[in-house]
Amino acid sequence: LVVISEVNKHYGDLHVLNNINTTVGRGEVVVVLGPSGSGKSTLCRAINRLETIDSGTITIDGTPLPEEGKQLARLRADVGMVFQSFNLFAHKTILENVTLGPIKVSGMTKKDAEEHAMALLERVGIANQAKKLPSQLSGGQQQRAAIARSLAMRPKLILLDEPTSALDPEMINEVLDTMIGLANDGMTMVAVTHEMGFARRAADRILFMADGQIVEEATPEQFFTDPKTSRAQDFLSKII
Ligand code: ATP
Ligand code: MG
Repeated sequence: LVVISEVNKHYGDLHVLNNINTTVGRGEVVVVLGPSGSGKSTLCRAINRLETIDSGTITIDGTPLPEEGKQLARLRADVGMVFQSFNLFAHKTILENVTLGPIKVSGMTKKDAEEHAMALLERVGIANQAKKLPSQLSGGQQQRAAIARSLAMRPKLILLDEPTSALDPEMINEVLDTMIGLANDGMTMVAVTHEMGFARRAADRILFMADGQIVEEATPEQFFTDPKTSRAQDFLSKII
């Protein structure tokens, strides 16, 4: 579904993405791990074209990422993104947050969009919060609303960049359970997370980054029990 080929990006002297090559198959769950500053967020943002790249190619379903314009809106619909900070519209209800994209970008009628949105809110377990404003929800509920909002565009792929990092511990599991549910439903996902339990349980593949490079790519089983590189061994010794 996603093919990333010889991608490079610099911030001044910093080689933030250093010859990245990988693919994400349809229905695959890829968890990106790595120390702070290794380029994980930059890679996610590049896949969504929130960041430009200096060289190389990224294709989604065989189509190179668009430069700008209408195709970019379509890409953002195809590739959902969930951030650490939820990014919900503060002055709109949860239901409005979820229906806005389908109505504006996909041209759905309000009625259809609302029906679909309610089904998604049901799926993430917050249908009873639909009429509230984001500020009236807990962090975990807001993040599940953000996930429902990206699902509303019927994306081919969802990128999640540390979706639980801003949450209180007791709310982390409800979001991880939602993500595991999506994974089990066959959603293609690329998730940056520090939740190793989720990585072990839900990932088809671990992509370990350090210094802008993919240093190791393995199944969770291989990665957690027998990491090949000293960088990965060092990383794991610090977090487990
Ligand atoms: P973290 O785990 O802390 O979120 P990360 O792996 O997501 O880290 P990135 O956010 O991708 O790391 O950043 C990689 C490097 O690029 C960092 O050294 C960061 O300081 C640098 N960087 C990120 N965005 C910019 C920017 N807009 N301008 C300059 N440097 C940047
Ligand atoms: Mg990051």
